[in-house]
Amino acid sequence: MTAVTDRRYSSGIIIRARTVVTADRPPIENGAIAVFGNQIVDAGNFDEIKARHIGEVFDLGEQALLPGLINAHCHLDYTRLRGKIPPQKSFSDWIHAINTEKAQLSPHDYIASINQGFAEAKRFGTTTIANLTAFPKLIPQIHAPIRTWWFAELIDVRAPESANELADSALEALDQTENWGLAPHALFTASENLYCRCEEIAHRENILLTTHLAESREEMQMFHDAAGPLYEFLRHIGRPMDDCGNKTPLELFLDSIGSGGSPNRSRAIGINRPYLSWIVAHLNELTESDFELLERSNSKFHVVHCPRSHNYFGHSPFAFDRLRSFGFNICLGTDSLASNESLSLFAEMRAFQKEFPSVSAEEIFQMVTVNPARALRQEKELGKICRGAHADLLAVCSTGGDLFEEIIAFRGEPWIMIAGQVQ
Ligand SMILES: [Zn+2]
Repeated sequence: MTAVTDRRYSSGIIIRARTVVTADRPPIENGAIAVFGNQIVDAGNFDEIKARHIGEVFDLGEQALLPGLINAHCHLDYTRLRGKIPPQKSFSDWIHAINTEKAQLSPHDYIASINQGFAEAKRFGTTTIANLTAFPKLIPQIHAPIRTWWFAELIDVRAPESANELADSALEALDQTENWGLAPHALFTASENLYCRCEEIAHRENILLTTHLAESREEMQMFHDAAGPLYEFLRHIGRPMDDCGNKTPLELFLDSIGSGGSPNRSRAIGINRPYLSWIVAHLNELTESDFELLERSNSKFHVVHCPRSHNYFGHSPFAFDRLRSFGFNICLGTDSLASNESLSLFAEMRAFQKEFPSVSAEEIFQMVTVNPARALRQEKELGKICRGAHADLLAVCSTGGDLFEEIIAFRGEPWIMIAGQVQ
């Protein structure tokens, strides 16, 4: 007689759902996944998974199991500013308004703000966040309940001589955190030296970079025409304005900073730029010559669109179709609650769908899953359900209608698992 051996793999748990939404392959009806520790070890039809794995079965019933959502651009520092700043006449008026609000916040308030933001983002099904903070030194006092890429937001507009020092101290504050990057704020608040120092550090430390670019009409007016309220405000506080009156923000970025930039400068600082890929927030204000540049550009950076913040400011329409056709990886973000009302990526998907009704719900879903995972260089581990991915998951009600439309329409608090732990 031969001994009967069980050829099934021992696994922590099997999670079954009406549909498993893999995000990069077709959804699996009556699907299941096997989770071992903090990882997904298998995904497929429930019967196949049961045949291959031993483990307690956790049946989610009539729900769709999804990869956790990824917010590609956020500032949790300002969670407490929700509802404090009504839409302003101009972008510079908004900067004045937020600066007035910020002046009233203490480090304690910022910590509370960040913690509140984390709790809210998680409640709405965000399991990974790219969060810019102006206070990297506060990070050790915060316990992030979701996977976080901390970006130090850097501004040297009032002290450009301290660009290197600023970037180096951010590096010191962040290099103990697991996932981090640098965020020179924007071309109008961060000097070229600061951008270059951040690129040097990114190259050396293999970290990510993000920035705000071509967000408002006033930014375009400032750089292209050397005029307008933003130009006047920054000139007034002593910013050298010699980069204004000629180029568009995108031209300036590509010429001297972003991937594919000036070969001389790249050689001078020893950086092979195409290896540095920026996550660029906004990109709302582009001229026809900018579009030509983007079409020709070899290095396609990642672009984050923040639909509700975009509506709040009344920016020019986001050129989704053209940017997508040029091969840019487009992600969604919430931006901060100083220009948005909640940290829900479901609401962000709905706002995007309203703006671009011809884009399929499935493609919109990818902008909060596989696309931002790629921007964070985590395409194997995050944003999808497959063997080897982190067990960061959500479940939302599914009635058997159009799956992705149902996902986007979801309102409420989903079932959540992060790193294999039910929340
Ligand atoms: Zn932002």
